[in-house]
Amino acid sequence: MSETMRAMVVERLGPPDVMELREVPRPEPGPGEVRLRVEAVGINFADVLAVAGEYLTRTRVPYTPGMEFAGVVDAVGEGVQGVEVGTRVASLGGRGGLAEYALSPAAALIPVPQGLSGAQAAAFPVSYFTAYHGLKTLGRGQPGEWVLVQAAAGALGTASIQLAKAMGMHVVAMASTEEKLGLARDLGADVTLLQDDPDRVKKVRAAAGGTGVPLILEVVGGARFQESLEMAANLGRVIVIGNASREEANLRPVELMKRNVTVTGLWLSSLMPDAELTRQAAQALTPLVASGQVTPQVGPTYGLAESARAFQDILDRKTTGKVIIEPGR
Ligand code: NDP
Repeated sequence: MSETMRAMVVERLGPPDVMELREVPRPEPGPGEVRLRVEAVGINFADVLAVAGEYLTRTRVPYTPGMEFAGVVDAVGEGVQGVEVGTRVASLGGRGGLAEYALSPAAALIPVPQGLSGAQAAAFPVSYFTAYHGLKTLGRGQPGEWVLVQAAAGALGTASIQLAKAMGMHVVAMASTEEKLGLARDLGADVTLLQDDPDRVKKVRAAAGGTGVPLILEVVGGARFQESLEMAANLGRVIVIGNASREEANLRPVELMKRNVTVTGLWLSSLMPDAELTRQAAQALTPLVASGQVTPQVGPTYGLAESARAFQDILDRKTTGKVIIEPGR
């Protein structure tokens, strides 16, 4: 009889409490796959949307959530070369992370820089690769330029602030509470503003010398998307990365003409297969992490059985940094 393990299983889509802790067969790696003993899972807003059935791609059930995790290689499938059992790795693009063991394509493994804990390794791939592509690949951020970081105390927000500062940029950070703004300042944000400050458009424009912000990482969506256009500088770049408000946005294309604004979408899942872009991002990020110039921000940490609470806390905007679930806890 095959061995079993504990895993969170979703059989129908909905709010976080549709996830159930079950005893399921331990998966066997197929060709080109490895199996990890999962130490830590990084929970992204995308995981919350996927369980709700609101993600960009359709969620097929039954499934075990968890696309970003770190752990120790425990078995390798046919044809896998250069991956040793016992090595600690992170996976970006694996599946079923919310379990004691999970599979990942060998090609989706990222070496864990020395000195990072399992939780830090799980907090790294999605947020930092996305921040890099937003700031650099698509945003073309330059030293001395201003960037607006929304949801600044979250997983992507904290990564974006640290990376922008490492690139020599100036950061305006927005978040919903004073405590979150304090974290943004600790990470180097130059100007911080409450998300609901009634004068936020004026203040953001003023922060960047009164002429608006040249680069905006837009993650809130809905009515806030329209505001981002008003905050942008002439020839500004707005990178659409998320829709945390889960509201529809109205875009009147003629609005873009006013300040010659460019709006660009960014989805990490469709950038990762571009080997050259991924290599460039890894080459830029690895030394920054190794030198401690950027440090993945591990947020609240939960056990497997507390997964639904972890997801709900993200939805309720209670968390900062990357929410981590440790299946072995
Ligand atoms: P976070 O850790 O940042 O958590 C989400 C944050 O969104 C909350 O803490 C909250 O911060 C903010 N938020 C703003 N408005 C709302 C709202 N109405 N309801 C709930 N939260 C709100 O999550 P992630 O770092 O995982 O993701 C941040 C955003 O980036 C998401 O939109 C996500 O989908 C996107 N993303 C996109 C990627 C891509 O490839 N395109 C990759 C990674 C992330 P506050 O309370 O300060 O407003």
